[in-house]
Amino acid sequence: MKTYRIPMVPGPTSAPEPVLAAYTVNYGSGDLEPEYYELYEETQSRLQRIMGTSNSIVIMSGEAMVTLWGALKSCLKPGDRVLCIGTGVFGYGIGQMARSVTSDVHFVDFSYDEICRPERAEDAIMSLRPKMVTMVHCETPSGTLNPVAEIGQLIRLHGVPLFYVDAVSSAGGVPLLTNEWAIDLCLVGTQKCLSALPDLGILSVSERAWQVIKEVRYEGYDALGPWRTALSDRWLPYTPSWQAMAALHTACGLLLDEGLDRVFQRHADAAQLCRRRAKEMGLELFPRREEYCSPTVTALKVPERIGWAELDRRLRSAGMVVGGSLEKLAGKVFRIGHMGTQANLQLVEQAMDVLEQMLRL
Ligand SMILES: *Cc1c(COP(=O)(O)O)cnc(C)c1O
Repeated sequence: MKTYRIPMVPGPTSAPEPVLAAYTVNYGSGDLEPEYYELYEETQSRLQRIMGTSNSIVIMSGEAMVTLWGALKSCLKPGDRVLCIGTGVFGYGIGQMARSVTSDVHFVDFSYDEICRPERAEDAIMSLRPKMVTMVHCETPSGTLNPVAEIGQLIRLHGVPLFYVDAVSSAGGVPLLTNEWAIDLCLVGTQKCLSALPDLGILSVSERAWQVIKEVRYEGYDALGPWRTALSDRWLPYTPSWQAMAALHTACGLLLDEGLDRVFQRHADAAQLCRRRAKEMGLELFPRREEYCSPTVTALKVPERIGWAELDRRLRSAGMVVGGSLEKLAGKVFRIGHMGTQANLQLVEQAMDVLEQMLRL
């Protein structure tokens, strides 16, 4: 099926009308018109507020993965040492991606139902002295939220040159303090808490990251280098999607108009409701402890007597769709995405009613 009455997938989330409307306009060429650059700059400053940063914001065509790749390739050279904090599918995936650039990649290992314990990360930082530490804020496939602030303190304390954080499914749903947390490369997507379409990659780049990027001189479609002066020189590396930028501008505006504190509270409330109902119907959270859970997504164990394929079939037949999970969690964990427009108490209540009915069949 193409669309669902109760969309609860943890991204892409359902986009609101004003965001979709941005795609129905025949804009001129973004390269040529001053209005496009104004739109870009205004979108940048909206994202700076959502991401808690004064660093420059790059908005590239593609999707969140383009920034995950682009930031690694633009900042790393063969031989560079990277420490990846692994607490789930994306944390380990980023390490595998980094291995395509440098063989010197190390992991601090945690199991997928835990979050990062800073003291273990600190030991690894002190013994390895990496050029870059990578971590994931919300590990979407396991529904956990990592303590980025604490790791940021260690980055400062031990003088790690680059801190790379995947905040794709947390930005716009939970507080994200890029500057305060010493994040040099903060990676965000449009299709999770921002509830826009999956067509742009967003990242903030610190001054020290720009210096590294200049020195590494990576060239490629996903290279960050050209973006350092793209706006000031009015010269973009490729034709941008004006429609996608207009949609992102609108999506950020909706969050800021609502007020970020309210937006974060809405996510916390939706998460709490989802988890209370899940526990009442006898479901078990996947994360080992409830305080590890992210306000943007809830990961639950698939009841063994039903199995994932059957649960998915039953929910779809009732007009509801949730996320399965990935990799070694596939078939064992399912996820309810209460992020962006889906962080809505009425919708979550309705979803949990349907889930309860479908478990009883
Ligand atoms: C969604 C997401 C991404 C982007 O992955 P896609 O599967 O391409 O959408 C990256 N990191 C995290 C943590 C995500 O949740």
